Amino acid sequence: MAITFHEGDLPPDVSFGGTVAIDTETMGLNPHRDRLCLVQLSAGDGDAHLVRFRKNSYDAPNLKALMTDPKVTKLFHYGRFDVAMLLRYLGVVSAPVYCTKIASKLVRTFTDRHSLRDLCRELAGIEISKEQQSSDWGADHLSEQQMAYAASDVLHLHVIRKKLDEMLAREGRTELAQACFDFLPTRVALDLAGWSEVDIFHH
Ligand code: MN
Repeated sequence: MAITFHEGDLPPDVSFGGTVAIDTETMGLNPHRDRLCLVQLSAGDGDAHLVRFRKNSYDAPNLKALMTDPKVTKLFHYGRFDVAMLLRYLGVVSAPVYCTKIASKLVRTFTDRHSLRDLCRELAGIEISKEQQSSDWGADHLSEQQMAYAASDVLHLHVIRKKLDEMLAREGRTELAQACFDFLPTRVALDLAGWSEVDIFHH
């Protein structure tokens, strides 16, 4: 496994194929208060690229082009958070997207365990650590442990997606899942506009 660190943007020559796994690390869980610090990406080949952002410097043309490239599916786990952060700080609507948490909820109805850690264990046979989850991602110098942790959040999503796709097809829910993925940018727009705690479909 190779982890490549980039400051401020991806280099122009890096390619992730048709599906790129993406995760973000931030100063916290509130997109209006807590800034984007790191974007992790993987082509599913065992390698990860980390793009680190300093405060108020989010001019990243190569990453923005990737996020909006219609030929590249952006693969997230709980994309609702990452897509909101990428919209708030980079100003781009990530599309097309796939979310392993949504897929898991639609097809693994026998359990309520849908965390990334659960899916890594149950669908990829891999134990990932969440020890660094709440560390200071805005620090000037990211530790080796932080970078390894950040990378581990994108390295297994391709394998998990393949398993979930097989289950969605088996249960006849592929189209329902796709419709949910396609709605995700709208769900994010509602979150950022003040409807984050409200289900507008509720009676
Ligand atoms: Mn993460």
